[in-house]
Amino acid sequence: MIKQNIQTILSQLPGHVTLVAVSKTHSVEMIFEAYNAGIKDFAENKVQELIAKQPLLPADIRWHMIGHLQRNKVKYLIPFVHLIHSVDSERLLNQIQKEAAKANKTISILLQVHIAQEEHKFGFSTEEIKIFFEQSKNINSPNVSIKGLMGMSTYTDDESVVKKEFDTLKSLFDLIKLKHGDQLPDFKELSMGMSSDFLLAIKRGSTMVRVGSSIFGERDYN
Ligand SMILES: *Cc1c(COP(=O)(O)O)cnc(C)c1O
Repeated sequence: MIKQNIQTILSQLPGHVTLVAVSKTHSVEMIFEAYNAGIKDFAENKVQELIAKQPLLPADIRWHMIGHLQRNKVKYLIPFVHLIHSVDSERLLNQIQKEAAKANKTISILLQVHIAQEEHKFGFSTEEIKIFFEQSKNINSPNVSIKGLMGMSTYTDDESVVKKEFDTLKSLFDLIKLKHGDQLPDFKELSMGMSSDFLLAIKRGSTMVRVGSSIFGERDYN
């Protein structure tokens, strides 16, 4: 089942788009099944769950953090995290810089932008993110590599709303690249699209889709 789901999704993805399997709430056995079907990129949204699963799974898995991250938990991710998608404040960036420097590492991140209508979703506003990039100290954190942007669309059946939000994020991505690209050689990733809207997201410029339920089935939070 998992293998079949993965094959179906992969057959729809252009070669330049990375499929990140969102494994939150799912067992180590299910993650193994996806791994054996060829997936190497997995994402979790809680630090506790991520650090519990990571040691039980193959070392060549690239672990992505996609949920809201508290500053006091950054240190647990530094030893192994591949990409943090959910950097939503300058203070969090500074904490990652500090912990990465301590470990003598470079940590790859995306900046999360709030594009949805829902209040509860995290991220910089489009205005805040422009200001963020105007400050050279943000761009030049020596132990942090800013790889791009991440966003989540509104949870709705109205495709025109989702399309507009993805277009907003893509325009912002292009603008930052244009203005600051010479200082940000690795600014290449646009993480947008989930089970319900990843095909739309790819049409609007996504390079990385985060897919959970279409691979693993519905989540059981109990
Ligand atoms: C859970 C989650 C996803 C995956 O959602 P599905 O609808 O199950 O594909 C993607 N991105 C983030 C940030 C998530 O928390």
